[in-house]
Amino acid sequence: MSEIKRPSWDEYFLKLAMLASERATCPRMHCGCVLVKDRFVLATGYNGSLPGQPHCEDDGCLIVDSHCVRTNHAEINALVQATKHGVNIVGSTAYITNMSCTTCAKALIAAGITRVVVFSDFHDTLATQFYSQAKVEVVKMDMPSKEIQYDLMNYSSAQKTEKSK
Ligand SMILES: [Zn+2]
Ligand SMILES: [Zn+2]
Repeated sequence: MSEIKRPSWDEYFLKLAMLASERATCPRMHCGCVLVKDRFVLATGYNGSLPGQPHCEDDGCLIVDSHCVRTNHAEINALVQATKHGVNIVGSTAYITNMSCTTCAKALIAAGITRVVVFSDFHDTLATQFYSQAKVEVVKMDMPSKEIQYDLMNYSSAQKTEKSK
C-alpha cells in the first residue's frame, strides 16, 4: 500500500546481501555479499564452508588466532562464484552486510571492484585504508529494513483473482 517505501537501488541490493547472509553457516558471523554491475546481479556469496566440508553449525568452529577459519567469507565466495561461471566483475559494486576484513578487501580490489556499499562496521581491519589507497568508493549506509514488503492481498488484481475462485 501507499505507506510502503520503495527502496533505492543501493537499499535493494544491500537487502539482497542481507538475504544471502541467511545462508551463512558460521554462528560467529553471518555475512552476505552481492556483486552488481549496471543494476545487474553478477554473483552472490555468504560465509560458508568449502563444498562438501562440515559446517561450523554442525561440527563447531575451527579457531586459529581467535578467528574461525573454516569458512570462506561472503566476498570471497561471491568472487569464487563469478570465477566458476566465467563472469567478468571488473568495475562492479560489492554490496556487503559487514565491512570487509583486510583479506577480502584486498581480494575485491585485485578483482577490480570499484565501489563498496556496506552498513555494518568491522573491527581490527585495514580494509578502509586499502580501499582508500585503491580509490575504491566506500559508501556507508543505514541498515535497510529487515522486513520484506510482500503483501499479495494488498493489490487489487490479486484480490480479484482470489474472489473469482
Ligand atoms: Zn565458524
Ligand atoms: Zn573477509
